[in-house]
Amino acid sequence: MRKALYPGSFDPITNGHVDILERAAKIFDLVEVAVLENPSKEPLFTVEERVRMIEEIFRGKEKIKVGSFRGLLVEYAKKTGAQVIIRGLRAISDFEYEFQMALMNFKMEPQIEIIFMMPRVEYSFLSSKLVKEIYSLGGTLPDLVPPAVDRELKKKFNDT
Ligand code: ADP
Repeated sequence: MRKALYPGSFDPITNGHVDILERAAKIFDLVEVAVLENPSKEPLFTVEERVRMIEEIFRGKEKIKVGSFRGLLVEYAKKTGAQVIIRGLRAISDFEYEFQMALMNFKMEPQIEIIFMMPRVEYSFLSSKLVKEIYSLGGTLPDLVPPAVDRELKKKFNDT
């Protein structure tokens, strides 16, 4: 079975991520969204909240699963039996960081392949950070985030 991991913060997941996942699911038997628990970042949503939103979005989709991890990505990939890591590459600004990370992961675990997928053009300037900024200022982006995310963002910012 060909299994791929799609790791990231997903704070929160956007339609750019969803697009990559749906396209990746056509290539692999199973794709796991691996939500990173990163103690050095201060997220808006807890890992549990992020996982719950992703579960809601992909409910009924057999080929897309959700998990979370801490520590080294390559260790998590080995542990979960994934042969491939998928990352998204947006505008040129992603390139340098992704290139460094990919080479480092490849050095640590040469058995694992790292594959980059480009977003559709309408999502190429979309980021979780920008989405959070806009909702925090009272704006909404219903075309750019799934309904579950739109709902949770409104809840988060109306409650504060
Ligand atoms: P990280 O903190 O690891 O960058 P993100 O949640 O921001 O986590 O992103 C996870 C992955 O999805 C990364 O590979 C990132 O480049 C990619 N990505 C983020 N936004 C988009 C988008 N709009 N379209 C396609 N890929 C994206």
